[in-house]
Amino acid sequence: MTINKIKREQKKYWVAVYALSVPSIAVIFSASNETCIGIASKYMDKGSFSLSALILGLLLLFGGIFYAGRKFLPKCSACGKSITPYQLGVVVATKNCPSCGENVIS
Ligand SMILES: [Zn+2]
Repeated sequence: MTINKIKREQKKYWVAVYALSVPSIAVIFSASNETCIGIASKYMDKGSFSLSALILGLLLLFGGIFYAGRKFLPKCSACGKSITPYQLGVVVATKNCPSCGENVIS
């Protein structure tokens, strides 16, 4: 793996995270919206619309971030762990995986 490849993959990850945070936040803040009530009322009883919209939005947001991380983040070839954006500096500086210490940049 090269530094440029890692940076490209991290960029895709951020694009995915930002793209999905827009509908998630829309769901969270549209607790009184008709569509949202429709979705929410399927899963919860009618007294808790805004709570279920909030839970739905948060699930979408965190589930999406988790999924984007699994799908887009570069992985260490030795231990298979993802290199998160917060660990990018460590990888660039040391050329090693922050989890297992194996060399990841050739
Ligand atoms: Zn590793």
